[in-house]
Amino acid sequence: MMPHRTPSSSAGYLVPSVRLGVDLDGVVADFTSGWMRFYNRDFGTSLTNEDSKRWNDVVELTHFADIDEFWEWSADLDGRSVFWHLEPLPGAVDALVGLHRSGHDIVILTTKPTFAVEDTHEWIAKHGVPADEIHILEDKWLVDCDVYLDDGPHILPGLVANRPDSLVCRYIRPWNRPVPGAVDVRNFDEFREVVDRQAAQDADG
Ligand SMILES: [Mg+2]
Repeated sequence: MMPHRTPSSSAGYLVPSVRLGVDLDGVVADFTSGWMRFYNRDFGTSLTNEDSKRWNDVVELTHFADIDEFWEWSADLDGRSVFWHLEPLPGAVDALVGLHRSGHDIVILTTKPTFAVEDTHEWIAKHGVPADEIHILEDKWLVDCDVYLDDGPHILPGLVANRPDSLVCRYIRPWNRPVPGAVDVRNFDEFREVVDRQAAQDADG
């Protein structure tokens, strides 16, 4: 069920709706803590969030030979995939609810292995993510949005290159670097400022 929405009118006029393309893992869902919790349990390690500095740490920090071995293990953890078990990052869902209440469209853009598609839909529902649309795909730029938010070092350049009229935000993480043409945001407060600026600009025509 979608929360009730009222277009914001703090300045006495309606703020235009902005279409927000929002990534899940590393932005809304705590993928790093999630897989580490199960890996530590299953293999007796004591990995923590602070250990993860690279995009490929599911291989670099583990005994898995490649990503396929990681996916094979992560597909069935207590009967669900690792994605089903993830915790939301602090404040992320509340921030999306706030943006949604302000009248903006929340378009979830996430890349997932096929085995995790159903778990992803369940995850979005059980954590109350106010998703107007959910797209599970690799080429996120195929979905037209006004503003994108992503942490993927391989995703961001594609968004910048293929959506020159959109605003692309890099969610700063240890595993990504500045991307030419992308705006850096450190948290959802800064993302909110970017969205508000964009909406104000749209209002000015
Ligand atoms: Mg991500």
